[in-house]
Amino acid sequence: MKLFSFCSGEEAGIGVDLDGQRFNLTEALDIYQKAKGIQQSVSFTFLQVLVELGYCNGAMLRQIFEESWVQSKISRLRLPDDFIYDLPVPRPSKIICLGRNYKDHARELNHELPSEPLFFSKSPSTLIGHEKEIIIPAWLTDRVDHEAELAVIIGKECKNVTESEAMDYLAGYSILNDITARTMQKNDIEKGEPWFRSKSIDTFCPLGPVLVPVDEITDPHDLKITLTVNGKTRQKATTRDMIFPIPRIIAEISRYMTLQPADIIATGTPAGVSPIEPGDVIEISIQDIGTLRNSVRKDS
Ligand code: MG
Repeated sequence: MKLFSFCSGEEAGIGVDLDGQRFNLTEALDIYQKAKGIQQSVSFTFLQVLVELGYCNGAMLRQIFEESWVQSKISRLRLPDDFIYDLPVPRPSKIICLGRNYKDHARELNHELPSEPLFFSKSPSTLIGHEKEIIIPAWLTDRVDHEAELAVIIGKECKNVTESEAMDYLAGYSILNDITARTMQKNDIEKGEPWFRSKSIDTFCPLGPVLVPVDEITDPHDLKITLTVNGKTRQKATTRDMIFPIPRIIAEISRYMTLQPADIIATGTPAGVSPIEPGDVIEISIQDIGTLRNSVRKDS
């Protein structure tokens, strides 16, 4: 099961992909709540609301779809083919990213392997959805790189969680491209200055198109991840090669800061990062999740 936000003409809502068939989950939940006589029912127009209220659960949502009230209206719930994907979580309180979490990537940038998870952040205003353009500012003339990453989305507030509890606080998984103004980042690091700006330029964080609920993926540390630019493979790895696994990452970050529902954690990129140019089309595919596609444009 995959969840997504969609727009279709005047309509917007939450969609669900059940074994390749796509349905309007907003309407299905409305039918379900009315049939059950639920007072003060909630309109689930945005996927982020579903995440924040803790309903991002594959088994529960599948069960709702199997209910006779929903099944009797199933043909009406089918989504048209021409819908547009919106961001799965457009307003996280923060985006936290892992640095050097794959050995081969740390080596390709001539860095030591970290002895504990190394993290930094991207501004949430960097977020763009599937098929939206990565816009390189006119003033930025040196190297900009792609970075294919598995993203985890927080489902419940957490602070000081242990590794064994950590997975209980996740809503699901998505795909993220940690676009980086590489020359700027390198220069800032060499000067001993923060490199936040090189990661936080508007449009530098494509995310989506879907969010897969956490209970729908058996092992997030055994997923193939590939990135192509104009059809040519640049990154190809498996999440098995992460240095610090997801429970360790969540436990470590939550020692310092409260993680809120809808917060995004980018788990690091494997080797193969390379420059992108205006006109390029970048596709990141992660097994059992899908494909995130964005083109690159230079701002005039
Ligand atoms: Mg990265």
